[in-house]
Amino acid sequence: AAKAAGRGQHCFFEPSMHSEASDRQILENELRGAIDREELSMVYQPIVRAAGEDVCGFESMIRWEHPSRGFISPEKFIPIAEECGLIGKIGAWVLDQAIAEAATWPDEIRIAINLSPIQFNDPKIVEIVAGTLQKHRLRAERLELEITEGVFLADSSATDETFARLKALGVRLALDDFGTGYSSLGYLKKAPFDKIKIDQSFVRGASITGSRNGAIIKAIVTLAESLGMDTTAEGVETFDDLALIRDLGCSQIQGYIFGKPAPAEKARELAESATVEPDGYSSQREPRQ
Ligand code: C2E
Ligand code: MG
Ligand code: MG
Ligand code: MG
Repeated sequence: AAKAAGRGQHCFFEPSMHSEASDRQILENELRGAIDREELSMVYQPIVRAAGEDVCGFESMIRWEHPSRGFISPEKFIPIAEECGLIGKIGAWVLDQAIAEAATWPDEIRIAINLSPIQFNDPKIVEIVAGTLQKHRLRAERLELEITEGVFLADSSATDETFARLKALGVRLALDDFGTGYSSLGYLKKAPFDKIKIDQSFVRGASITGSRNGAIIKAIVTLAESLGMDTTAEGVETFDDLALIRDLGCSQIQGYIFGKPAPAEKARELAESATVEPDGYSSQREPRQ
């Protein structure tokens, strides 16, 4: 609130600001004990090969079920964890849970795990990743780490070395939320990504007449292909968008049309059945021609 009011105006203290600050403080304190109280869990969303309907992997997403407030979005609590120094502990827990789960899947199915920029720039990150893979006997090639361009903003001189050491370990690297940040093209040159994840803001509704998103997706796919990288379109919800995304040549698809993030048991079932059908999630809401 202080930031919003800060454009050259006087920043006076409003009662609402006080409650906002203490609310955040309360959440921070509660998050501290959330792992031990077993309020955190992981869910898994299928990632499907675009040419066909076979599941090639799952992305893990963290969930926090607060005892009185119910579900709290990671968009809300991950930033808190980053600011109050809890992200290391939570991030290590996420790696352990998701890698243990992936080790129960058929061997060709990959696990994609989100890494916070702060976690990525922890000097111990390579040891943590390597140790967790070894603990659960998962081949490094089956792990894909999803990173946002935030890792480059930290301006850590160790960033390049971390990329090189993770590649040497054999894990795959994906650039998440592509297209939403500042100068993503420079980052593509700098780091050895295997995959670009095209942000949902370009994908959702791309098939609607007059949308310019198709042209942008096409350009990203062409760029990725010439750099030897895969592409995943995030946020595919409708049959029309699915058809367009396939036409545009994305290599993989992720979105509610193939499944929302689901508990481990459901993911294991999908991993074993190996294919998944699009189920027309929300396609009725879409203007059709
Ligand atoms: P993300 O990594 O870009 O994950 C994709 C988000 O889009 C997820 O939201 C997913 O549930 C949602 N999504 C997937 N398909 C669709 C779709 O078709 N339609 C719509 N409307 N949404 C879709 P979620 O789980 O709330 O996660 C939000 C963000 O929180 C993630 O964005 C990621 O940045 C962060 N996050 C989630 N889990 C973790 C984690 O374990 N560690 C870290 N560091 N960050 C995480
Ligand atoms: Mg992600
Ligand atoms: Mg994303
Ligand atoms: Mg995101």
